[in-house]
Amino acid sequence: MPIVRVALDIPLATLFDYTVAEGVQVAIGQRVIVPFGKRQLVGVVVMECVATSDVSAERIKPVTQVLRDSAPLSAELLTLLNFCSDYYRYPIGQTVLSALPTRLRSDKPIIAKPILSYRLSSSGAALDLENFPKRKVVQRRILAKLVEQSCNLAQLKALSATVGAQLKALVAEGWVESFDGVSDIKSSVRPERNAVKSKGEPVEANSCPSTSSGRTDCVASKHVFDNAHTLTSEQQLAVDAVTQASGYGCFLLHGITGSGKTEVYVHLMHHVLQRGGQVLLLVPEINLTPQLENYFRSRFPDVNLMSLHSGLSEGERLHNWQQAQSGAAQIVLGTRLSVFAELPKLALIVVDEEHDSSFKQQDGLRYSARDVAIFRAHQCGVPIVLGSATPSLESYYNAQSGRYKILALTGRATATAQLPTVRCINTNQTVMQQGISENLLREIEKRIANQEQSLLFINRRGYAPVLMCGGCGWLSDCKHCAGKMVLHLNDKRLRCHHCGYQIRQPSACPSCGSADMHPVGSGTQRVESVLQERFPNARILRVDRDSTRNKRAWQTMREQIHANEVDILVGTQMLAKGHDFPALTLVGVLNPDSALYSSDFRAAEKLFAQLMQVAGRAGRADKPGEVMIQTAFPEHPLFRALQTHDFAGFAASQLAERKMAGFPPFTYQVMLRAEGKVESDVYAYLNRAHAAAKALQMDVEILGVVPAALARRANHLRAQLLVQANTRRAMQNFLRAWQPHLEGFNQAKLRCSLDIDPLEF
Ligand SMILES: [Zn+2]
Ligand SMILES: [Zn+2]
Repeated sequence: MPIVRVALDIPLATLFDYTVAEGVQVAIGQRVIVPFGKRQLVGVVVMECVATSDVSAERIKPVTQVLRDSAPLSAELLTLLNFCSDYYRYPIGQTVLSALPTRLRSDKPIIAKPILSYRLSSSGAALDLENFPKRKVVQRRILAKLVEQSCNLAQLKALSATVGAQLKALVAEGWVESFDGVSDIKSSVRPERNAVKSKGEPVEANSCPSTSSGRTDCVASKHVFDNAHTLTSEQQLAVDAVTQASGYGCFLLHGITGSGKTEVYVHLMHHVLQRGGQVLLLVPEINLTPQLENYFRSRFPDVNLMSLHSGLSEGERLHNWQQAQSGAAQIVLGTRLSVFAELPKLALIVVDEEHDSSFKQQDGLRYSARDVAIFRAHQCGVPIVLGSATPSLESYYNAQSGRYKILALTGRATATAQLPTVRCINTNQTVMQQGISENLLREIEKRIANQEQSLLFINRRGYAPVLMCGGCGWLSDCKHCAGKMVLHLNDKRLRCHHCGYQIRQPSACPSCGSADMHPVGSGTQRVESVLQERFPNARILRVDRDSTRNKRAWQTMREQIHANEVDILVGTQMLAKGHDFPALTLVGVLNPDSALYSSDFRAAEKLFAQLMQVAGRAGRADKPGEVMIQTAFPEHPLFRALQTHDFAGFAASQLAERKMAGFPPFTYQVMLRAEGKVESDVYAYLNRAHAAAKALQMDVEILGVVPAALARRANHLRAQLLVQANTRRAMQNFLRAWQPHLEGFNQAKLRCSLDIDPLEF
């Protein structure tokens, strides 16, 4: 009887053998249900028809069922997952299963629910939108959208947070009708693998004949393309460089904020779509996907675009994944997990904001989606574009040393848009009003008078990072962590942001009973209340994880900002990323100094990127922007570089420091972390791992066992061991030799993990 090897979601670095009854067809990549102990598990066949097994014949159990309700995984994807399992030292079975949508990990049969699309009914088409009630804003938007094309709910959701209810109302009125959208998705003609690589003429808008439903019936090589923007010469050079490359090539698109990187992506996508290829566009933030989705749909109105991120329902995610797998989805826009989407016609990968740390998964399979994407592009022989205004120093170094090609956008796309002026306010020499300097407050006042927006950026939520007793010096330590509890004045509570533990705000000191308790430092809530006091008539909006807990809150806030219904924005890094607020002309940065003396060698790089991003929000339309940074170190080279928008200078000085210190990108790192309730268990494990590493006598540098930056979290003691090597190969060789030792050590009471190319220290 033939034997198959199956990947299972089991924390063991092995495949499992099962027999298949004569006559039953099983393909590689197919999902199966198999017995495992007393359970039945879903697995994926990774190898077929093994002649002999390590397990004796009578002990091999038969496959319970072959699941045929989804197409088998491709050999290409399995190769990619195999690479990830090997590179990140994570069990193959868990790697394969974690790449699948949840529905495909379950043994319940997949019942494809129809994805409804919406279009105008005949009475809806007869409506006069000009005379439609003005206050029904969302309904008007929906109707206007449906005049252009029929849409499914996901597409409409990009219009507003309340689309669901408003759509229902329109259906109830009889103006909008639903239909089964899947059958309407246009035919996915599979191109020849060697499609002609000629330079095609741009496709004219609406060159495809429209059908009665308002959609077009194009074959994959033709689509409607909104080519309203003329490329600058730099943008054109970038587009040409990528489209003229053949096969694999890694391009670093280094463009200042506002330089129009997205326009380059759009033209590259157009080029690929014309040839029937699929595009994978990776973005860091789930928060950004509805906006971007909307934008790309508007540029390619009849192209089948699917998003993949953790915010989708299980059904939506499966549907979109399968659309990618069948080749029907022409553009797949997603967060890091979408790097594992099946894409049979993949022809281009774009990683937007490639420096963003959210491309790195911080548990389970600790992969970097950017790095996996580069491997995948290489594997498929297609170009990959990494875009950023502040590239990671790893990517920047690779571009400088010639491994990647650099494409620079040095001018802003809108000719009139100037880069913002950046000034430092020396906090030692200025009058401060509870953390905000008087100069900055006066500038905000001017903006309010001019009906322009200001943004105050502070990367700390809550009211104050710590509560202190003036009598005895008591501090609001978390009793479960090594960190402090943050004061949230809104609901009068102290909260630990590490473990979630919270208590009521004490009115008297728990230690000495004194009533002299005061908050130390500022968070977003405190800044908000200081501004409220100073500008009682201003409309102030706070954007942080607390104020956007509700799923749709952030989208509603963005609409308010765009409608100019906000005077002052107060927010964390959520505000720094990728948003375009045309009325924003002033950015104030409060309290960036802690990163200047952090133990994390990437802290300066992260701060620089963050401040460049947040500064880039100011003055994007025709109004010049101004950035004011409150710091006690105005002469610091980092701020100097920011003032002159000198990324190259900053990167050069950082790289020189890294080279001296022997840090990445000049070395490759692996972090072994352990945490547990008993300190001696944690250190015993790490010390044995340390000794085992030494005993191997390989070409790596083994650093000492040290406490983690947060040495205790939720009553678990945390420590780590760092190993560095000069080459990737040396690191991988070392890991292959070291990891089996680690598995032999007692770690029953510990949580241990190996993190390859770690970002967190
Ligand atoms: Zn006290
Ligand atoms: Zn805590």
